[in-house]
Amino acid sequence: MGGSGTRRRWIRLAAGAGLLIAALALGRPAAHLVRSWWTDTNELEELPAGFVDDASRMNATRVTEIWNVPPETEAAERQLAQLLQRARENGLGVSIAGARHTMGGHTISPDGIVINMLPFNRMELDEDAYILHVQAGAKWSQIIPYLDVRGRSVAVMQSNNSFTVGGSLSVNCHGWQYGRPPIASTVRSFRLMRADGTIVRCSRRENEDLFSLALGGYGLFGIILDVELVVVANERLRLEQHVVPVHRALVIFDQLAREGPDVSLVYARLNIVPDELFSAVIINVFRREAEGDIPELSDPGLVALRRAVFRGSAEGEYGKELRWAAETKLQPHLLKKVFSRNQLLNEGVEIFQNRSAESTDTLHEYFVPRTRIAQFLVALRRIVPAHDGNLLNVTMRSVDTDADTFLRYADRHMLALVMLFQQPRTAAGDDAMEAMTQEIVETALSLDGRYYLPYRLHATAEQFHRAYPQARDFFDRKRRFDPDEIFRNRFYEKYTLK
Ligand SMILES: Cc1cc2nc3c(=O)[nH]c(=O)nc-3n(C[C@H](O)[C@H](O)[C@H](O)COP(=O)(O)OP(=O)(O)OC[C@H]3O[C@@H](n4cnc5c(N)ncnc54)[C@H](O)[C@@H]3O)c2cc1C
Repeated sequence: MGGSGTRRRWIRLAAGAGLLIAALALGRPAAHLVRSWWTDTNELEELPAGFVDDASRMNATRVTEIWNVPPETEAAERQLAQLLQRARENGLGVSIAGARHTMGGHTISPDGIVINMLPFNRMELDEDAYILHVQAGAKWSQIIPYLDVRGRSVAVMQSNNSFTVGGSLSVNCHGWQYGRPPIASTVRSFRLMRADGTIVRCSRRENEDLFSLALGGYGLFGIILDVELVVVANERLRLEQHVVPVHRALVIFDQLAREGPDVSLVYARLNIVPDELFSAVIINVFRREAEGDIPELSDPGLVALRRAVFRGSAEGEYGKELRWAAETKLQPHLLKKVFSRNQLLNEGVEIFQNRSAESTDTLHEYFVPRTRIAQFLVALRRIVPAHDGNLLNVTMRSVDTDADTFLRYADRHMLALVMLFQQPRTAAGDDAMEAMTQEIVETALSLDGRYYLPYRLHATAEQFHRAYPQARDFFDRKRRFDPDEIFRNRFYEKYTLK
């Protein structure tokens, strides 16, 4: 009797202890996520009238005018030519703005005129030829649903859908499309309004010089009006997930490159927990599956939870640990295994966008040859903590050689590291980011790499010209096509050397 009573007491105690441990274990993540959700209020401010900014929220600048392009082609062309004439007569700079997700004032000419391309967003698909005729202000978020019902998809784009065609072409973007060159490779032709108001068609056979200068040309050669873009079939993709040490990830990347055609998209994310920085990688490989239906396009799932996990990762080591655990342990069980290509591409930046008044998120991207990437990671492991960089995300991509653009970043096959940092929205926060950026840029340059240009203008002019030795020629050609320097922006102002 006495023995079984003692046993029952022990069993009750053990069960209680188990429950307590479970509550504690579940309690901390739950408390963390609730706090992250609770403190994540929308503090994005309206800009004062006459000011514009970009995704950095560090570039508020007074301009003379913001001019919306009308959607009708004829009216747009006539009025744009008049606007350029007016700008010339009044000595005003003109900058061109898509969705303004660049971060260095690339869409801003101080005291100048900003052309807002967003209303100029019509499109038409030539289904048989797989060519989308699209006006430059259209965003991928408008294009993907349009293509989806027609069984097509975007061939190369960024990892989110929030950007315009004109902005994407003008930075020559790239994404998770495995082993593909950047977007310029998918452009058949476009029409460009030059500084004198004339319109020319640019392709690999007509006005080839302007074709390669305006693609990746940061709005300095003219206004891209509309584009003939090669599209691909929408696909049913099966997810295969690997969580591996970083050296193994590089081996997997090499293997995928050899495997070829059934790999469609690859998304690799590095561990950013400070004590384990870059030690492991989650690689999501999406393989084409010929048999079976393509799932229908729907709204992105679990948005509030994913946002709470992501934004919570800005708050110290625990948030970063929780996110890594969620993505490596929990997500594989929650995720579906079969996706539509369009679904994977159709996600906006709102899911992770920083909306706080005090801080902002700053992107960096570096392109490094495959043989030097391990050295680059070793250096980053030292540089980022030395500058107290608050890393929120690091992804790795494979970008093939770009044979089309003049100011090219992928002059050979490159591995790209995309890093998102949170920083205070203050001058001191920006100075600290600048110092860290310059050290990382220097490291990338020493490893035959370079950095991506749409972000903060933190690299020195000397570093920029070392990264892009063709830039002096690029700017000379700009002035040949636009002798009055009508098309101007802060990127041009900082880096042009006359
Ligand atoms: C959260 C986030 C994620 C990102 N992810 C990726 C990624 O995965 N891959 C990648 O490659 N990049 C990425 N980027 C960078 C992004 O591709 C560029 O900032 C791109 O320019 C955004 O498009 P946009 O419409 O916002 O362009 P804007 O910022 O509006 O414009 C970019 C440049 O293009 C010029 N321009 C715009 N429209 C025209 C036009 N019609 N004619 C001529 N010039 C024009 C502008 O003057 C400016 O110089 C990311 C940026 C952010 C903020």
